Amino acid sequence: MRILITGGAGFLGSHLSDLLLAEGHEVICMDNFLTGRPENIAHLIGNPNFQLISYDVTNYIYVDGPLDFILHLASPASPVDFEDLGIKILKVGALGTHKTLGLAVAKKAKFLLTSTSEVYGDPLVHPQSEDYLGNVDPIGMRGVYDEAKRFAEAMTMAYHRLHGVDVRIVRIFNTYGERMRQDDGRAIPNFVSQALTGQDLTVYGDGSQTRSICHYSDLIAGIYKLMQSDITTPVNIGNPYEITMLDLANKIVEMTGSQSRVAFHDLPRSHGNDPKVRLPDITKARTHLDWEPKIGPDEGLSRTIEWFKKELDK
Ligand code: NAD
Ligand code: UDP
Repeated sequence: MRILITGGAGFLGSHLSDLLLAEGHEVICMDNFLTGRPENIAHLIGNPNFQLISYDVTNYIYVDGPLDFILHLASPASPVDFEDLGIKILKVGALGTHKTLGLAVAKKAKFLLTSTSEVYGDPLVHPQSEDYLGNVDPIGMRGVYDEAKRFAEAMTMAYHRLHGVDVRIVRIFNTYGERMRQDDGRAIPNFVSQALTGQDLTVYGDGSQTRSICHYSDLIAGIYKLMQSDITTPVNIGNPYEITMLDLANKIVEMTGSQSRVAFHDLPRSHGNDPKVRLPDITKARTHLDWEPKIGPDEGLSRTIEWFKKELDK
């Protein structure tokens, strides 16, 4: 297939590009490097099946030649960006999704949206299955991201119903691993780089809030299975390994052999409406995609720690 991937120079987009190229597809990566990095795709430059277009997808998109699939990943994703990049996040979720869907109609291409567990907001049911409608504050600090993704899902389904676009929606739960930026701001890159540099680990609040952490390799495998399926409704992809942020910080201190200590901080302004719990119900992915995560936290975190060590040595 000839595949356009927006946000292809980001953490997940670059890994997905690697997988698609390894599977024999042609990849066109479109990215404006707002939160992505040239280093993530440097190894792909020169590959005849890979093309990079430096472009902001909130504008009209032109791509030469046919396209079989459009994967719309472009969007800042770290809560630290919710304050400064709020308008850009809303624009890429709304205008970027509109433009990429329009391109899908023009090219008769299939379309996949990377949505998020954030559509469930601060959930009142636990675990979260795809039929839970969520608890989102549209005007809270997270509203820019949560509502952008909820709008993107609505737009995707409208194009499916009105224009017959063959769509996929993946709701991604916290995914981590190699190639996350040291200054990404999300919990795992923060804790790992803090532990490796002997700084205190910044646990926000009392650290009792939970997340369920998935290694990127499992997520990417799930997305590839979803692309090959015919499921047009949202599918949760994540690892049901749930852990409190305090336990996660302590685990990372232990795994790195660091002398760092855990320090409790007030929630930063950007982290308003911080969900207290998050756990995916992955029955749908298990049943319909025959997918489940294979990499547990010990293996995933040690791979991530090794990668951050090399990055810090550079
Ligand atoms: P990332 O920041 O590494 O990647 C996002 C990419 O999108 C970056 O390369 C960035 O430069 C690019 N981008 C942003 N705005 C753009 C625009 N207007 N035009 C073109 N490119 C633009 O983040 P990630 O973790 O790789 O996330 C990728 C996708 O997965 C996002 O849509 C995110 O919402 C979703 N997601 C990720 C997670 C996770 O845990 N990693 C969880 C839920 C959802
Ligand atoms: N968190 C933390 N310390 C940090 C970064 C994050 O305690 O240095 C907490 C944050 O408040 C949230 C959880 O870790 O409860 C996960 O945050 P992250 O930014 O990774 O992603 P989120 O799931 O909130 O989008």
